[in-house]
Amino acid sequence: MQPVYLDNNATTRTDPEVVSTMLPYFDVHFGNASSSHRFGSAAAEGMRLARRQVQALLGAAQEQEIIFTSGGTEANNMALLSALETQPDRDEIVITAVEHPAILALATHLAKTRGVTLRVVEVDSCGRLDLDQFDEYVGSRTALVSVMWANNETGTLFPIPRLAERARAFGALFHTDAVQAAGRVPIDLKSVPVDMLSLSSHKLHGPKGVGALYVRKGVAVRPLLRGGRQERGRRAGTENVPGIVGFGSAAALAARYLEVEQGWVGALRDQLEQGLMQRIGQAHVLGDAQHRLPNTSCIAFDYVDGDALLLLLDRVGIAVSSGAACASGAMEPSHVLHAMRVPANAARGALRFSLSRDTTTPDIYRVLEELPPIVARLRANSPLWRDHAPVPA
Ligand code: PLP
Repeated sequence: MQPVYLDNNATTRTDPEVVSTMLPYFDVHFGNASSSHRFGSAAAEGMRLARRQVQALLGAAQEQEIIFTSGGTEANNMALLSALETQPDRDEIVITAVEHPAILALATHLAKTRGVTLRVVEVDSCGRLDLDQFDEYVGSRTALVSVMWANNETGTLFPIPRLAERARAFGALFHTDAVQAAGRVPIDLKSVPVDMLSLSSHKLHGPKGVGALYVRKGVAVRPLLRGGRQERGRRAGTENVPGIVGFGSAAALAARYLEVEQGWVGALRDQLEQGLMQRIGQAHVLGDAQHRLPNTSCIAFDYVDGDALLLLLDRVGIAVSSGAACASGAMEPSHVLHAMRVPANAARGALRFSLSRDTTTPDIYRVLEELPPIVARLRANSPLWRDHAPVPA
């Protein structure tokens, strides 16, 4: 039987159309995009088209606003460090407690080693930002506000236009990690006052190891990698031309499939969620039900071990991910579920289902058939469940 892949927030299958667009850039148009002969021009032409395709996905005003990077992590690192370097008179960063480690780890490191003051905005039990705290934290010393467009674990969407306006009112730069949002919800940078935005190709059916940082025209930027003059001196290193071409092609496809993501994929997600809630008791959907990515569902099953669930699902050919990670030998809730104060008994059994345009109705039926008996089996062996199971009517 075909395996079922519902871990698209970890990575997506590279679209076959993207693969075939990339292939000639390995062995035919293999030139260095900086070379002035015909081989170089062919590579540079492929990159030019890719830049326009990424620009179009974001509704960015100019193609020069797109800087290609090695992925979302590099783009996030560059945004944070650049904002601090270009504004030496400001020493505070505002982030949220649920950012990806590519922001959290660097921001924490900067706070420890460079005297940067880090202000971390909390979320409520649904993963929604504490807006009063946000407003309180943003001020005239803020160099950068960085808030993800959508959370990778729960899919919760943040009110980016409102947050960006607030940052702008204090003259602070606003960056958003849109790695999970791009291609899943509309983004139009003509109407949202974002200064910098990070993207990753492999989350939208493109190849791995490539991404972009959007930097609005007029915003000063410092390179993270210094060396050659690639990317107009903003990102040194010979470009990953096949990767960039693939990313561009994936971005063009993502724009075309946006309605499918919001309609069909969202409907499949709802079907999965409702089906599981009907079949399995003591289960909770985590995240903001009103403002969520259409492809993501994070569900906590009380009194089961998420790792055991993953393993047993994998045995029957279903791939998902868990909301807990192994820390010091014990399963600990992820920082996101911890920030949402999800009770430990639920967080340990949290699973993230993330769909894509590749997901089919039979995939959903498979999960609805396989998961309930697995949960029941694990609970039957759990002393905690025996103590907490609802009393039969
Ligand atoms: N930001 C978010 C929200 C992510 O989910 C990820 C990847 O999981 C990243 C950044 C990192 O992107 P990349 O894998 O391209 O470095």
